[in-house]
Amino acid sequence: MSLSIESRCIHLEDDDRAARYGAVSFPIYQTATFAHPALGQSTGYDYSRVQNPTRQQLEKTVAALESGTDAVAFATGMAAILAVMELLAPGDHVVTESDLYGGTPRLFRTVCEPRGITFTSVNFSKGMEEAAQAITPATKALYIETPTNPMMNVTDIRAAAELAHARGAVLIVDNTFLSPYLQNPLTLGADIVVHSGTKYLSGHNDTLAGFAVVKDPVLAARLREVSKTIGANLAPFDSWLVLRGIQTLAVRMDRAEENALALAHWLQKQPQVSRVIYPGLPEHPGHELMKCQARGFGAMLTFEVTDKTYVPVLLKNVKLIRFAESLGGTESLLTYPVTQTHADVPPEVLAANGLTDRILRLSVGIENVNDLTADLTQAFAAL
Ligand SMILES: *Cc1c(COP(=O)(O)O)cnc(C)c1O
Repeated sequence: MSLSIESRCIHLEDDDRAARYGAVSFPIYQTATFAHPALGQSTGYDYSRVQNPTRQQLEKTVAALESGTDAVAFATGMAAILAVMELLAPGDHVVTESDLYGGTPRLFRTVCEPRGITFTSVNFSKGMEEAAQAITPATKALYIETPTNPMMNVTDIRAAAELAHARGAVLIVDNTFLSPYLQNPLTLGADIVVHSGTKYLSGHNDTLAGFAVVKDPVLAARLREVSKTIGANLAPFDSWLVLRGIQTLAVRMDRAEENALALAHWLQKQPQVSRVIYPGLPEHPGHELMKCQARGFGAMLTFEVTDKTYVPVLLKNVKLIRFAESLGGTESLLTYPVTQTHADVPPEVLAANGLTDRILRLSVGIENVNDLTADLTQAFAAL
């Protein structure tokens, strides 16, 4: 029976329930190691850095949801991105989107560049010309997010994959903002998908996790080798938390997206708001493209206030909405990118991307939308 994605989030890939007493919830195999029946024999599990049944169950689930052949679960999103970068060698070059989650360019700059990998950042959402010009014979990968964090620029994944493949490179897509429920880059030609599982996949702001998902079995084997060797794998209990989070991914994303559109409309009506950037709005430049490559627009929105002095007032006065970094949880969070998620991005890059000190990012949760607008109404009343 071929199941829809909503059902696959719940019924996962568990084909061996009888062996586990019919337990409906997948067990947490809280063990570091596994005993062998005899010399040269294995239960299939040797040591939890290499394989653990709970983590494997999660990996199978994420691989299936992203239409990959394999997914590797890491302790954090950054650990997953680092493991992917370990597939490169000194001398290799990567063309990256310029508006990325702030931790990613910090990793490129402070960890990868000293080891001899070079990066050129471009704006992929304007089309492929700039990226095509940045490619050199040493280019091994293109690295994008779509929509980007926090400017919500949308890149044509199919076009980026075509460009990468025409020039002998792979396309890596950070799919954190939409989750596999709304977008599957591997089906659009991407070679590697990374996730901060901390966000929508776990969904409750109670654990950190990361994933790298691939189609090509050769790439999968190399990634497994890196993960077992560097050991930044997700622990059994955290794997279980993410498995539990994924069960409600579909309903959470649907409700959060519905709320996000309502809040985008509400914000557009406020005289203190100069700009609302949400791809679900028909006037967003990426709106039509997203309809061709995603099943929805997500629940992340960015807005700009008319005066910088409004920022601390809003951050202080929101009550139900919490002032915190992170995103993708059940609770709505308001973030100030220039001092939080993007604090380490050089000022000239922020300026080029239009990321000003009047920009706030809202991760819309699944609360009742009237409570969210009431909270914003009272916070805006303090301006
Ligand atoms: C949070 C985030 C990351 C980093 O993930 P961690 O789990 O915090 O290490 C990477 N990419 C995006 C888009 C993110 O939002």
